[in-house]
Amino acid sequence: MTRAADSVPPQLLDESRIRDLARTERLRAFNERCMAGAVSAFAGILLLVWVFWTTVGWERAVGWGAVMLAVEGLIFWAGTRCKQALAEGGAADAWGRVQAGLAGMAGVCWGSAVWVGWAGSETVHYFLVVTVVVGVAGISMVTMAAYASASALYYAAINLVPLVHVLTHQVQIGHLIAIGLLTAMVVELGYCREIRLVLLRDVEQSARNLVLVEKLTDLLTHDQLTGACSRRHVFGFLDSLVANRARHGTPATLIMFDLDRFKHINDTYGHPTGDRALKEVVRVVHAELRTGDMLGRVGGEEFLVVLPLTDVASALPLAERLRQVLAAASIQDGSTTICLPASFGVAGLQAAESAAEWFRRADRALYAAKADGRNRVVAAD
Ligand code: GH3
Ligand code: MG
Ligand code: MG
Repeated sequence: MTRAADSVPPQLLDESRIRDLARTERLRAFNERCMAGAVSAFAGILLLVWVFWTTVGWERAVGWGAVMLAVEGLIFWAGTRCKQALAEGGAADAWGRVQAGLAGMAGVCWGSAVWVGWAGSETVHYFLVVTVVVGVAGISMVTMAAYASASALYYAAINLVPLVHVLTHQVQIGHLIAIGLLTAMVVELGYCREIRLVLLRDVEQSARNLVLVEKLTDLLTHDQLTGACSRRHVFGFLDSLVANRARHGTPATLIMFDLDRFKHINDTYGHPTGDRALKEVVRVVHAELRTGDMLGRVGGEEFLVVLPLTDVASALPLAERLRQVLAAASIQDGSTTICLPASFGVAGLQAAESAAEWFRRADRALYAAKADGRNRVVAAD
């Protein structure tokens, strides 16, 4: 079945970000399963310690149990470090490799239970140990499947360590157990591969959907040429400021500006140079604003700076500074320097005024600045 994100042309979405997100998500899933596995392993360890205690003595029971707990403890500890690295955006991949290595160690320790539990005669208990080990291998499949390296290390260890034991000791039906262990290893690795493919497809699909939503949001809220906010987004913000003014009486001011004689730049140097000029304008103005202020492109070369919690008296010096900054800004076209002056209209939000009226007053003030000779700031009435 084709899902929405699949049919988006690949060049529209950031494929390297999709890969990064998918890789992080796979590691997160693997790490969380490793941590859960380390906790639930406790039950299996207790069961085998009890079997060893009653059959081969407390020394072996305690010794094996202690090693096993240490390894599972290490897995849990590495899990917390990996989680931390994922949360901080640090070197989490390295912790993924540590987890895969520890999975191999856990496999060796579980497999060694068959050696520890060997008493030579108590075959019923021996089979119980083999069964527990095979069971542990089975329920670990979803965990180990995430990475081929983890599956290979874990399943080689947990099956081959007992296999060597049955081949080198006089175990009843040892050859059948050996065949069983080999078959189990092949089946487990095969299933791991299947589970891994499903997991990879899922994390890739989720990452693709996330990046698609981000892209759509960006297309709706930002101008794709300059990176300034889109007209639609700016007007949504104006509506919220009008509502805040009505409810809480909080001030807000608009600075609208339009580049002077911009058509001349396009006509003389070409449209691409005009585009470059627009980007430079946004870069320069953006650098002057505080977080919380919004810069939007509301027309071809008309921009709006929205200043929440700011009255006209505080906005006018900023408008004057923006005028000076733009009058001093320029781009190069070969050896020619192209200046980027602009005219400014400033309007404070009035009581009971709609966003459209507020915007119109700023536009009228800007028009007055143009009529007055350009490259100046005019405050609305
Ligand atoms: P004024 O000082 O009166 O504002 O003169 P002006 O030439 O800047 O004003 P006008 O509105 O006549 O021209 C605006 C020009 O902006 C016309 C249009 O070609 C250009 N423009 C609009 N959008 C873009 C764009 O995305 N890229 C480029 N390069 N030019 C654009
Ligand atoms: Mg203009
Ligand atoms: Mg214009």
